Amino acid sequence: MNINPGEISALIKEQIKNFSGEIESNDVGTVISVGDGVATVYGLENAMLSELLIFPNDVYGMVMNLNRDDVGVVLLGRDTLIKEGDTVKRTHKVVEVPVGDGLIGRVVTSLGQPLDGLGPISYAKTRPIERIAPGVMTRKSVDTPLETGIKSIDSMIPIGRGQRELIIGDRQTGKTSIAIDTIINQKGKGVKCVYVAIGQKNSSVASIVGRLKEKGCMDYVTVVNANASESAPLLYIAPFSGMAIAEEWMEKGEDVLIVFDDLSKHAVSYRALSLLLKRSPGREAYPGDIFYLHSRLLERACKLSPKYGGGSITALPIIETQAGDISAYIPTNVISITDGQIFLVTDLFTEGQRPAVDSGFSVSRVGSSAQIKAMKQVASSLKIELANYRENLSFAQFGSDLDSETKKILTHGAIVTEALKQPNFSPIPMIEEVVILFALKYGYLDDLEIEEVNPFLDEMWEWLNTSKKDAIDKLSENKKFDDGLSDELKEGIAQFKKVYLAKRGK
Ligand code: ATP
Ligand code: MG
Repeated sequence: MNINPGEISALIKEQIKNFSGEIESNDVGTVISVGDGVATVYGLENAMLSELLIFPNDVYGMVMNLNRDDVGVVLLGRDTLIKEGDTVKRTHKVVEVPVGDGLIGRVVTSLGQPLDGLGPISYAKTRPIERIAPGVMTRKSVDTPLETGIKSIDSMIPIGRGQRELIIGDRQTGKTSIAIDTIINQKGKGVKCVYVAIGQKNSSVASIVGRLKEKGCMDYVTVVNANASESAPLLYIAPFSGMAIAEEWMEKGEDVLIVFDDLSKHAVSYRALSLLLKRSPGREAYPGDIFYLHSRLLERACKLSPKYGGGSITALPIIETQAGDISAYIPTNVISITDGQIFLVTDLFTEGQRPAVDSGFSVSRVGSSAQIKAMKQVASSLKIELANYRENLSFAQFGSDLDSETKKILTHGAIVTEALKQPNFSPIPMIEEVVILFALKYGYLDDLEIEEVNPFLDEMWEWLNTSKKDAIDKLSENKKFDDGLSDELKEGIAQFKKVYLAKRGK
């Protein structure tokens, strides 16, 4: 740090003046330089890392660098309100946000201030935005499904409560839609949701909130919004604030889902403020501790053991890739921190395969232990079937003379692929997914035209719900197939197929 002699003498004079009040002088500092949302402050020898400081004009700052002679502070307000020589006071507190049920249905900033014009947030408690993740002994393995209501995900890449599953893909591949559908699908399931928007346009966030309102979801959702025009420090703390809000509910024994949309922009904001704080840049100019940044955030998502209340935080971080490159720095970091990833592909998206989930690259490392038995029974071979289909698809392009076995794989694969298409904002119940996959598994759709697949499945579900209600109820209750139930359902589907074909004059 360059300090000119004039400043030094002024500072020394200031120190001498305060000599008698030595204790106080440790708590009050002077701004040496300010700009780009970052200030350097002299004289706060006892300042703690992450401590909140008060600048004039009610601007707050957070201590990020502890240097020998000064501290580096990121400003959580406008830097134009601060000038060199201003006095800075310690608060002896780290940055905290309001938590509790008063935040339900609200849209707040990363400091927990309201953004929705619904008046002040009512709260009785605040929590520090940073905290050490729960230890091994307080945790329990994942055992309850977090239903996304999306056929391709619940069947092949199941997510369990307390899991961290990354949603990764290029821009405009439906990443946000998957997260929002999952939030919509938690309605009535007792899972509170926190959606953290980082560096997005206010208009995008407004349309998401509008959609959640329309679907009646705002009685269990909190939105934390640090938009693209906000300063880097506010973007940087947004996911930590969201996590603190979620933790309060988890510790009360509740299940929480938190979405970080997206951590690529979060990484960029952290890079910006690290460079401004003159930390040395590393790979892709990111600071060396960027891995630690995301790992300490995502480690806080977990399932607690019953002794600690049994609550959980399921985290769905989102990462945007460039041209599908998952081997870039931030994507590889977050892939290795999470328990699996849902990989979305532009080609599939433009082909109309939506959600554009690449079933080969997508994995869920812990979720299958949380899957219900019935889903395991119908979906266990799905991934292999699809892989097989795609492999044969490339052969099919070369020749027309295919043996009957290959032809069968191709027709079945095409039908399954079609059946896994699903519009956004329309998650479906787990049992409906199971029944659809059951019908696919036993080949009831293999002789249909491709465009008939989804209408058939929709009508089938409706028909079974009236004509075979007993079987559906039994399946909902037992959550598994036994021989009797399997036969009953097969008979039902065969009956419906006759009705369906007759209606269409076939
Ligand atoms: P960005 O990179 O801009 O954040 P994103 O990857 O989050 O984009 P979305 O905003 O979720 O993508 O979706 C992009 C567009 O695709 C939206 O217009 C959305 O309505 C549409 N879309 C997403 N999923 C589906 C789907 N399953 N079926 C049809 N359309 C979809
Ligand atoms: Mg998005």
